[in-house]
This record gives sequence, C-alpha cells and structure tokens, in this order.
Amino acid sequence: MKSAKPPVLGIVVPCFNEEQMLPITARELDARMESMIAAGLIDPASSIYFIDDGSSDRTWELISELAQTGSRFKGIKLTRNYGHQYALYAGLLEAEGDALISIDADLQDDILVMDQMIASYNEGNEVIYGVRHERASDTRFKRWSAAAHYRLASLLGIPTLPNHADFRLMSRRAIALLSEYRETNIYLRGVVPLLGLRSAEVYYKRKARRAGQSKYNLKDMFSLSIAGVTSFSIMPLRIISIVGLLVFVISFFLGGWALYYALTGKTTVIAGWASTVIPIYLLGGLQLLAIGVAGEYIGKTYMEVKKRPLYQIEKTTYK
Ligand code: UDP
Ligand code: MG
Repeated sequence: MKSAKPPVLGIVVPCFNEEQMLPITARELDARMESMIAAGLIDPASSIYFIDDGSSDRTWELISELAQTGSRFKGIKLTRNYGHQYALYAGLLEAEGDALISIDADLQDDILVMDQMIASYNEGNEVIYGVRHERASDTRFKRWSAAAHYRLASLLGIPTLPNHADFRLMSRRAIALLSEYRETNIYLRGVVPLLGLRSAEVYYKRKARRAGQSKYNLKDMFSLSIAGVTSFSIMPLRIISIVGLLVFVISFFLGGWALYYALTGKTTVIAGWASTVIPIYLLGGLQLLAIGVAGEYIGKTYMEVKKRPLYQIEKTTYK
C-alpha cells in the first residue's frame, strides 16, 4: 500500500479539432471521475486537463466554456499545432496531481479500467500501461502483421510494449523522470519504458471512434514509425555498413577470379553488357539509399542541436 490517502488524479487529454467529440468526452470523463471520487479511489481535488493542440475549429471555445462550469475542467492552449506526441507531452508536464492518466479525446480506450490503474498505483506501480486485447474479430493477417511489427521493433532495439498506445497512468515521480528527456524527436511510447520504474499492465478492448475524424492518416502513421525507429535505433546505419562490406568482399573475390582467368589465359573474360551495366545501377541505387538513410540521422541531429522548445503555451484557463 502506497498511502492511505487517495491520490489527486489528473486526466490529460490532447485535443485537435475535436469539437464533435469534446462534449461527449467531457461528460463521460466527468462522470467517471465523480464515481471514482465517490468510491474513495481518488482525491476530490482531481482534474481533467484538455490540451488544445492548435485546433482550427471551436475546440478551444468549448474547453473555455467547460472550464467555467466548474474547477474540475482545465484548459491549456498551445500556440499552434505541434502534433499528438507533443500535445500529450505538454499536458503531462503541465498538469498537476499525484498521478496522471493520459487518454485520447475520442475515448476509444476503455475509461472503466482507470479503477484498475489506480488500484495498481496504490500497490506501488509507477507506470501502468493500458494494453489492448488482441481482438478476436481481427483477421489472421491483421494479427500476423501486428505481431511482425512488434517483432521488428524489438529486433531494432525499440523498447515498445505490444498493443499499448498512449493510454497509461504515470506517477509524479515517473513524470519528473520523463521531464528530463528533452529530446526534440520525442517518442513517448518508447521513452516511458526506458524510465525503468516499476510498472504493470491493465487490459481492455479498444472501441471505434464515435464522432469526428481520425487525425492520423497513412502518412502520419508512416512518419510516426520512422520517428520511432530513428529515435531509438541506429540499426539502419549498421545494416548499410554490413551490406557495403558484403558487396565489397564479393566484388573483391570476383575481381580476383577475373584476373586469374585473364592472366592464365585460360579464357578471355567476356564482360558483357549485363555484367557491366547492372552492377552500376545496382550499386548506384544502393549508394543513394545509403546516403538517404544516413541523411535521415543527420537531419535528426540537426533538429536536436537546435534545441527548440517542444511546445509553447498561449494561455490556460486556470493560471
Ligand atoms: N491529436 C492532437 N494533435 C494532432 C493530432 C491528434 O492532439 O495533431 C489528438 C487527437 O485530438 C486525439 C489524439 O491525439 O485526442 C489521437 O488522435 P486520433 O484519435 O485522431 O488518432 P487515432 O486514434 O486514429 O490514431
Ligand atoms: Mg483515435
């Protein structure tokens, strides 16, 4: 048991153009918090933080109205759209409370498991991951590709937890440790396990989005994957070196073989069109790819050395 006193909870919700979802989300989170307070699980001073990530719709107006209805709702407006990871990071660093739970505004994650998260926190866990059950309705291909994805991630040395998005509880101490990671290309799902604190998992079934649109398109998902790989692993650079070495060794022996035949005069090595032109294109392509991959890391380094702020706040509803 951590302490007899229930913790002050902060729920952190990043919002980008969520005017359709926000009223529902606010109502449901409020009811959830109310019942957790009634059950003595959390302190009555607990709050719900909405982080407006530069929305262009009425999201901020709605958040301001909510904040006026009672002190439980708090709003933070970022100066522009920074992206999900940064809005979430901003919320985690700014929100107050003994424990913070992050959740997406669309409530695709099951808010009922918050009870289990708090119970697990009281048992002394500092990070509690919400993990989706593998849906029975998923096709075999879906399950196989997801498994392959996490397998690849672990091969590349990225410490992600399978089927965990950003629905998790973090203790105050975990937040303090997280705040020391000031890297520009922050990938929270990968950084949190690095904190190394005692952690646990709770399981739930993910639902479909009820209103509004998903803000993540294929391109965003692709860039999140690239960000995940390049901020956690230099394996792609190593693969380039290995391929380069292999090509070099093979060419060296081929060269030796050709020379031997030419010198002994056993046969004239007939260098045909294919054997001349194909390697040129093949190696040209490989070289461009290698330069591109190396360039990705140089680009990352460039962004990191600038040490730009990860987010900036325009205003809040409470201070
Ligand atoms: N979000 C954000 N900034 C962005 C894009 C998304 O704060 O630039 C928020 C969004 O409002 C939601 C969460 O991040 O609360 C996850 O977005 P979404 O549900 O669209 O992603 P999906 O669940 O489809 O991956
Ligand atoms: Mg969603």
